[in-house]
Amino acid sequence: MSNSDTAEIIYDAKQHHGDLAKIQNLANQAFVPKTDNPKLQGQALELWSKNSAQMDDFLRQSMEKIRAFQLSKIKRLVDNAFTNVPFYRELYSSCGYELGCLSSLSDFEQLPIINKSLLNTFDASKIVNAPEHLELANTSRTSGSSGKPFTVYSDDEDIILDHLQVLRFYNSCLKKPLQEHDWMYMLHHAGLAFSSLHGKYKTFQLPDLLPDTPLGEHLLHLHPRLLITLPSYLPMILQHKEHLKNSGVEAILTNSESSTQLERDYYSKVLGLPVYDEYSSEEIGMIATQCGHENYHVIEDGVYLEIVNADARGFGNVVCTDLNNELMPLIRFDHGDIAKKHTSDSRCECGSACTSLVEINGRRDDAFRTRELEVVPSASLLAAIDDILITPDKTLKRFRLIQKNSMTIELITQYGDKPYKDMTEILNELRSRLSILFGYSIILLHRDVDELPAQKSYKRRSIVREWELD
Ligand SMILES: [Zn+2]
Repeated sequence: MSNSDTAEIIYDAKQHHGDLAKIQNLANQAFVPKTDNPKLQGQALELWSKNSAQMDDFLRQSMEKIRAFQLSKIKRLVDNAFTNVPFYRELYSSCGYELGCLSSLSDFEQLPIINKSLLNTFDASKIVNAPEHLELANTSRTSGSSGKPFTVYSDDEDIILDHLQVLRFYNSCLKKPLQEHDWMYMLHHAGLAFSSLHGKYKTFQLPDLLPDTPLGEHLLHLHPRLLITLPSYLPMILQHKEHLKNSGVEAILTNSESSTQLERDYYSKVLGLPVYDEYSSEEIGMIATQCGHENYHVIEDGVYLEIVNADARGFGNVVCTDLNNELMPLIRFDHGDIAKKHTSDSRCECGSACTSLVEINGRRDDAFRTRELEVVPSASLLAAIDDILITPDKTLKRFRLIQKNSMTIELITQYGDKPYKDMTEILNELRSRLSILFGYSIILLHRDVDELPAQKSYKRRSIVREWELD
């Protein structure tokens, strides 16, 4: 077959179900994005062969070089948006922006911050560069806490670049880079833009993991090198521990939901594999990825990240500029997440000079706040729960911690049997631990229930703030 013939045939990763009917059925339910076509796969493969080494070097450059690269990208991005996108034209005109006026990143950081609800008040044609391309553009929709869906448009080039950055991250989690014939295994409702690049760098995707899914058997059949999963599947993966070990999987990667380092360390230990977390969003794509030293390094050739309005503890709003989405520029876009930057400017032991995030706290709407409105890190709250309620106890099934106001927290528990010691003692311990985290004495309420009350949105929210800030 000539090259043009092979390019017409799409490699079907789903066929590798190993004659396991349950795997086959689940895999067939995975959504196939329209980007997953031979033409774009071919372009991605060509770019990967040509640029992967260079992409690797990029992240190892000095901070000065990285910032210089970002400034030149940003200047062009902002000027283009100002010229061609009505939304930015109006927004930037009102603050006196003129073409070519950015001479530093600190100039750039004076531009207004935008968010989903602001963009949502505009018609799609007003927030993109070339409205005539909207019909054909790639879209991803996010629900958002407001409940109103938000659509992000991106062009093929952006999709390809995002995918190459994902492959680069995968390589960074392996001792030896991915080979063309390697498999990756994905337990995730949202797959990658490409299931393979013309049959190379293949991904097998299960959009869900069910109690009777023969995951272990299938891993043994496929021998993937990486397992990419939602953190909430980790307890179920544990049941396939032996098969996982024998299948040759070298690392586990988590994304989409927040999980704590404590949680990941636990699974890393019991599964005998490193676990690396990724911070990404539907709007921007990959934002930061974890290295072997637990730091989250910003993907500096994909995003310019700022932590804005940091509180005394260093937690601030995550504001991102997508450096590659020309079609629908997202410039100084506030995600509604909070995170904390590393204060030291020195290179990480892994060799990266990129911006490091020490902690990503997830949704701002959920973060507990002190009466001074400082963030109380969710990881610290979960560690307290872990030490006092979970580790010493086998009978606690589920819990939820709710902040009612600046002083009051409610703990809801669902015990399967009697707690390991007197509940008053447990609550006292927890109350003093929480008081330390808040820096003042808090009131702890407690309710034990047969079934945790249902939640509207996120299935894994165990930390919820009901106290509304204005
Ligand atoms: Zn590092």
